[in-house]
Amino acid sequence: MHVVVIGAGVVGLSSAWYLARQGMQVTLVDRHAEVARETSFANGGQLSYSYVAPLADPSVIGKLPQWLLRSDSPLRFRPRLDPAQWRWCLSFLRACNGSQVKRTIGEMLGLSFLSRDLLDDLLAEHPLEFGLQRTGKLVVYRDADALANAGPMVEWQRELGAEQQVLDRQACLELEPALQDVASQLSGGIYTPGEATADCRQFCEGLLGLLRQMPNVSIRLETDVQALVERNRRVVAVKTAQGELEGDAFVIAAGMHSVSLLKPLGIALPLYGLRGYSLHVPLGPNDIKPVLSVTDAGRKVVYAPMGQHLRIAAMVDMGVDRAEVDPARIRLLKQQVAETFPNLDLSAAQIWAGVRPSTANSKPIIGRAGHFDNLWLNVGQGALGFTLALGSGQLLASQLAGAPPSIAPWPFAPA
Ligand SMILES: Cc1cc2nc3c(=O)[nH]c(=O)nc-3n(C[C@H](O)[C@H](O)[C@H](O)COP(=O)(O)OP(=O)(O)OC[C@H]3O[C@@H](n4cnc5c(N)ncnc54)[C@H](O)[C@@H]3O)c2cc1C
Repeated sequence: MHVVVIGAGVVGLSSAWYLARQGMQVTLVDRHAEVARETSFANGGQLSYSYVAPLADPSVIGKLPQWLLRSDSPLRFRPRLDPAQWRWCLSFLRACNGSQVKRTIGEMLGLSFLSRDLLDDLLAEHPLEFGLQRTGKLVVYRDADALANAGPMVEWQRELGAEQQVLDRQACLELEPALQDVASQLSGGIYTPGEATADCRQFCEGLLGLLRQMPNVSIRLETDVQALVERNRRVVAVKTAQGELEGDAFVIAAGMHSVSLLKPLGIALPLYGLRGYSLHVPLGPNDIKPVLSVTDAGRKVVYAPMGQHLRIAAMVDMGVDRAEVDPARIRLLKQQVAETFPNLDLSAAQIWAGVRPSTANSKPIIGRAGHFDNLWLNVGQGALGFTLALGSGQLLASQLAGAPPSIAPWPFAPA
């Protein structure tokens, strides 16, 4: 079977990898000259296997007014006259209920633990270089109540296999001495030893290298897919500037652009773009050097050591489509970083913005699309695409090939 995969971000590459391993003939198509040029380019670098809780959570409702009104809020919302925005927001609010959140966390942990195991298997066979550091993640809290409220979730997640420890301030500082300058502000933290950080773009380039060595894989970069060609509820080809490309099955892994690709077929993908930013900061001899992945829980800023750099990511801007840098948000981010790490020189930071392709309940959509026999979706990994890519790719490939899936596919099936 010949499968055409549209999109060479981390999700499309992972899909292509597992499809090729299933013995499929695979053509991977992307409009850029290189892979991972969009949301997979400079994300936060977190392989956050135990932090898969959806953004839609009952506690969010109480926080919304202050998040929406304050200029230093991690979340910014621009209302638009766009029915898709309001539909998504309503679904988001509906998803903010305790029992649904618990069920979602259980399902997402299944996918994230699968992804973690698959990364181990992949690296045992192919030792890719992508700055992987398995030093664990420390989420620090300034607010003692917020830390206390996180406790029951730690207990519950432990039952589901997530190993986490609640630490006091001193224990946090012993684990991460770089937090010394904010020591007096910290209440404590949660340490998750199994978490890792890495560079998503380099990982994508590594996967591309492996795919290029496979005789059943063809890579078509600089190929913009303009439309899907449909006949009798089957997709028969994709239309590109270079002509039509035929296939037996088609996988859409085009991030946020999947929405416009599918719209002409009558498929309204429930995805919404949540813009965020990253800073890639070169570390000089006098800069602090965190050894762990650190998350500032209150401000929702993540810090990932990456060799001689520190990757910092944050912010959720709703109501903006483009991956465009907003200078005011970068000023705010730099100010928040400087308050936490005053001895970090941010003057040479590389600034990046990306749009997370997000569903309202934070679960990706993986499986066959509605009424189409041969159209498959692997989209909506949102804030966790790097973490979930391998599991998502394998789940998609096993279903497409008719092989038994490693985890139950139905929680992620397209509606
Ligand atoms: C600020 C920020 C921080 C983040 N931090 C983390 C993190 O720490 N950990 C984590 O797990 N995740 C993180 N994420 C999320 C993660 O980056 C995304 O979920 C992931 O990159 C999505 O991958 P993707 O392959 O679906 O999409 P993309 O990477 O956007 O790939 C889609 C591809 O499709 C191609 N394409 C689109 N349309 C067409 C077309 N018509 N024809 C041909 N090609 C097309 C594009 O060129 C692109 O290469 C973060 C995201 C942001 C924005």
